[in-house]
Amino acid sequence: MKVAIFSTQKYDREYFEKFEDYHNHELTYFKTSLNKDTVELARGYPAICVFVNDKLDDKTLELLSRNGVRLIALRCAGHNNVDLKAANQYGLTVLRVPAYSPEAIAEHALALILTLNRKTHKAYNRVREGNFSLENLTGFNLNKKTVGVIGTGKIGAIFSEIMMGLGCQILAYDINESDILRNQGVKYVSMENIFLNSDIISLHCPLTEETIHIIDREALLKMKDGVMIINTSRGGLIKTEDVIDALLSKKIGYLGIDVYEQEENLFFKDLSESIIEDDMILRLNSFPNVLITSHQAFFTKEALDEIALVTLQNITDFESRNTLKNEVRYINK
Ligand code: NAD
Repeated sequence: MKVAIFSTQKYDREYFEKFEDYHNHELTYFKTSLNKDTVELARGYPAICVFVNDKLDDKTLELLSRNGVRLIALRCAGHNNVDLKAANQYGLTVLRVPAYSPEAIAEHALALILTLNRKTHKAYNRVREGNFSLENLTGFNLNKKTVGVIGTGKIGAIFSEIMMGLGCQILAYDINESDILRNQGVKYVSMENIFLNSDIISLHCPLTEETIHIIDREALLKMKDGVMIINTSRGGLIKTEDVIDALLSKKIGYLGIDVYEQEENLFFKDLSESIIEDDMILRLNSFPNVLITSHQAFFTKEALDEIALVTLQNITDFESRNTLKNEVRYINK
């Protein structure tokens, strides 16, 4: 099948090429992201492959369908960037990679927590410059701290297990509670209870109409002073302006984010020689207790192998009219 791959980075190509003996598809790589202005590039391709910041809104989907595209293969798990209702209306099939490596994301959340807490990034630079002082490097023990986990699906479950291994108590909120986790010691409570009682709050639910801006001014006011907030899920879960205010008032003690609501114009690009016009990311970067990574939680060799293999298999299944086990369907509520 002819496939147009958008938002291609060097590593995407490297991993797809690693598995070229596994399929007969003809892959064309485009560096540009997909949106209504670049959609013409997809003309002549029955399938396209996209990532988290490609924008598949109603207009783009309509144009894709008019250009003969039939399949959208997401090389990610989240699908909040696709208007599923419109995709359904234009007869486009949407497939995704539901679980390429939940461990990768859970472990990155831990990396953010430990870096913010023990300030290893600062210690590294200090020692290299001959500064062996410990001044301002004080951390806290994770043992016996209360960690609030919002969303205990594949990633949230592994994250909870990791944190319990470090001696933390887990308070969790999910619309679907897990008996397995409950038996392991996770306590399911209301979202409010999480806000009131957690030392660290980590977000692992998808971005939906219900979860957009769950961390806003009202939620922040309920939290413990000095709370640590970790977001490796989707930027829109956090209302950035409110979080900036809470950092200024010292309500938030630490913020670790791998995702950012306005990330599509920034992340995955080298802008080191450009003028960055996004004032909020600049403000966030100015706080000493904020750690931002550029949507890299998924970025392990194991996850990249799985993403390439499952994406290629998804395309083969579509072409061969096999059962589509990774289809994302529009549910009319
Ligand atoms: P999952 O579907 O296994 O788990 C999501 C959980 O959230 C489910 O248990 C679901 O019941 C729960 N949930 C849904 N709506 C909720 C609500 N309103 N309130 C509370 N809980 C709710 O998904 P997953 O594989 O664990 O991934 C979680 C999220 O992580 C994805 O949606 C994606 O946005 C994000 N993600 C980020 C990266 C990255 O590189 N940073 C990589 C992969 C996934």
